[in-house]
Amino acid sequence: MKKSLLVLLLAVLLPSLLLGWLALRSTEEQQIVLERRTAELYQKETDQVATTASSLINEQRRVFGETLRQLLAEEKPKDLAVHFTTLLRTRWPQPAVGFAIDRTGHLFAPTTRDAALNTQCRQFLEENGAFLGNRTAATAYAVPPDELNRPGLALQRKMEMGGKSGTGNKGEQSLSKAQSKEEDNYQKRGNAKDQALADNQSQKEATRNVAPQQQPAGGDSQLTWATAEFREFTAEGSEGVVNRFVEDRLNMIFWVRPAVAPEMIFGCLLRVEDLRPQWVNLFPPTETDYSSSTKGDPEFILALLDDKAQPVAVHPAKSAVQEWKKPFVATEVGEALPHWEAALYLLHPERLRDSARHLRRNLSLLIACALAAIAIGGWVIFADTRRQLALAQKRTDFVSNVSHELKTPLTSIRMFAEMMHSGRASTERQPEYLRIIMVEAERLTRLINNVLDFAKLERRQRRFEMRPLDLHEMLSQLWPAQELHLREAGFAAKWESAEPSLPVVGDEDALAQVLVNLLSNAEKYGGATKEVTLHSYLAGDWVCVSVLDRGAGVPAGEEAKIFEPFYRAHDSLSSGIPGTGLGLALAHRVIREHGGEIVYHARPDGGSNFTIRLPKAGRPNAGATPEMLSSKS
Ligand code: ADP
Repeated sequence: MKKSLLVLLLAVLLPSLLLGWLALRSTEEQQIVLERRTAELYQKETDQVATTASSLINEQRRVFGETLRQLLAEEKPKDLAVHFTTLLRTRWPQPAVGFAIDRTGHLFAPTTRDAALNTQCRQFLEENGAFLGNRTAATAYAVPPDELNRPGLALQRKMEMGGKSGTGNKGEQSLSKAQSKEEDNYQKRGNAKDQALADNQSQKEATRNVAPQQQPAGGDSQLTWATAEFREFTAEGSEGVVNRFVEDRLNMIFWVRPAVAPEMIFGCLLRVEDLRPQWVNLFPPTETDYSSSTKGDPEFILALLDDKAQPVAVHPAKSAVQEWKKPFVATEVGEALPHWEAALYLLHPERLRDSARHLRRNLSLLIACALAAIAIGGWVIFADTRRQLALAQKRTDFVSNVSHELKTPLTSIRMFAEMMHSGRASTERQPEYLRIIMVEAERLTRLINNVLDFAKLERRQRRFEMRPLDLHEMLSQLWPAQELHLREAGFAAKWESAEPSLPVVGDEDALAQVLVNLLSNAEKYGGATKEVTLHSYLAGDWVCVSVLDRGAGVPAGEEAKIFEPFYRAHDSLSSGIPGTGLGLALAHRVIREHGGEIVYHARPDGGSNFTIRLPKAGRPNAGATPEMLSSKS
């Protein structure tokens, strides 16, 4: 039994527990997957904003190119070059400083006159004059026009541009040469301000401005930068954008090499602060686009962050978050707006956690149910097996008990019969021997009848001959022989009859068999106080017969089991009392078939009280469930 319990534990419960634990662990991974999925979903939003920001810059560049084309159609390039700054200001509403240079780095515009008249021009010359004139290298971000619209692609150009990469092609080598040249320049000139800017610059290049939760915190920027002279930035293609930070401010330089004058470069410097009005077009026009479909309130805030991680545009308008540097997801705009990022902030981050928690709770519940089902199922199988084993054990015991029961009377019968046959028995002892043979034969008959009748009852083959009879009369016939037998066995036996007539409907033989079994049990289990009482009485509509003894009674907890077939509360080995465990089972079934019941009570002053109750003749007995009657003990 212990073994099967161990097998159940090892083969079913432990693997189930292990599976449950694995499933629970997998929910943690599920949570990560869920967060990643959400991040991927929201990343599309920030990608969109970054793309729009990038294309807004591209649009400005396109308008500049268009304006230049119109101006070139009106004037010769050389003529246009000298007053390009002034003309551009009249033609293009953006407050940009136009410039024109040739291949040698000669600056046609803005002129010193422009600088004298306009502070913006003066500042432009101070900050960018040396760089545009190819007299110094600068660290800048350059994007070919076709990629302005595609943030993220810039990374692929890293190898071409040099920047953070180590080894590479010719172009790269020339750029690293230029880079060391600029570093030399810085050292030679000992320009503390430029050096500080360069430091600031490289600091910007090393990290992202924001640390999105769904990417490695503080992950590296994907931007490509290079330190080179202006001519190197503009060596390829016919137009482009060069972005550089001066005094920690982003300067955007649009440049065009017109086909009509390939030796010239026309360009303009646009300060990003001046582009503010553009950002209103960054986000989709309707509020509902960003609303949760179920609740109607916004799920997140979108923002365009500048290079200092400050919001330049927010959607929904006027929204605020505690920490702009910690978005849920973010996308770099790219070289078009270096270090600018489109960022998304969850308004209800707890919802994400909650859904993962719900998932885990449901799964835990499911696992718990599955485990409980397995445990209950296992236990049911285990209990059934145990029951089957107990039954098999009872049957085996029964066979050995019956053999023992048969052997004892047979031995006596044979012994006394042999003695008489051989003439060894004296004449005066012969009646005694004959009586023993008869008693033992009766015992044998009773035993065999019990077994056969029980088998018949089990197979539902036993037919009861039900007829009206007086139980008092039946007892009057049965009692004298029983009394004699009990007295001979040393018992004080008495029959207390309260009623002269106890009419019932029943099978006389079957009822007599039940009563003899009960009296025989009283004798067997009667103990040292040899006292048996038969008590017959009427209780309402019930005819009752109790068999009382003064033995040890039925052990506590086994009162119901003694009516099960083969069950013996006193087994032959330990008690030395022979028996088959069939007497009470048989009595129980016979009385039930008569519409009555048999009950056991321990007598308050010691001993057993087995009472059979049968419906009084004339009272309907079908389906009778009589209440227990406290018997007179
Ligand atoms: P058995 O052949 O063992 O007597 P029974 O079906 O007649 O079989 O009885 C079942 C069990 O009930 C007995 O083994 C015994 O333990 C218990 N029992 C029956 N009658 C008495 C009694 N009068 N006093 C105590 N125990 C009894």
